[in-house]
Amino acid sequence: MSTAEWTPERIATLIALWNDNLTTSEIGRQLGITKNAVIGKVHRLGLPQRRPSVKEEPVEADIIRLDRLGANMCSWPVGNPGDRNFHFCGEPAAPNKPYCTRHCAVAYIRTRDRSETSVA
Ligand SMILES: [Zn+2]
Repeated sequence: MSTAEWTPERIATLIALWNDNLTTSEIGRQLGITKNAVIGKVHRLGLPQRRPSVKEEPVEADIIRLDRLGANMCSWPVGNPGDRNFHFCGEPAAPNKPYCTRHCAVAYIRTRDRSETSVA
C-alpha cells in the first residue's frame, strides 16, 4: 500500500498534532507520511487554518475602522457610531459607488421606500 491508511486513531492524532501547532512536515514525520499527505488530509478534513504564531487580536484585526477605510472600499457603517465595534463594511466598492454591490442594493431599497412614502 503506497499511502498509509487513515484509521480513526491516526486521524485523531493528526488533528491533535495540528491543534498543537506542529508543522505539517513534523506531523508527517510522526505519522510516517509525507508533508503533502498531511496537507491533503487536513484539507479534506476541513480543519481550520491555524493562525500564524504571531499574536493578533482575532476579531479586531478584521474590523475596518475609519482610519483603514480606503477610497475603493464600502463605507457602509456597521453598528452604532461610538460602539467599540463600530466599523465599516470594507468590501470592494462598486464602480463609482460608495458601497459594495450588496449595500448599494440595501441603500437603493431604502431610498426607494422613502420616496414612495413621501409621494403618497
Ligand atoms: Zn458593503
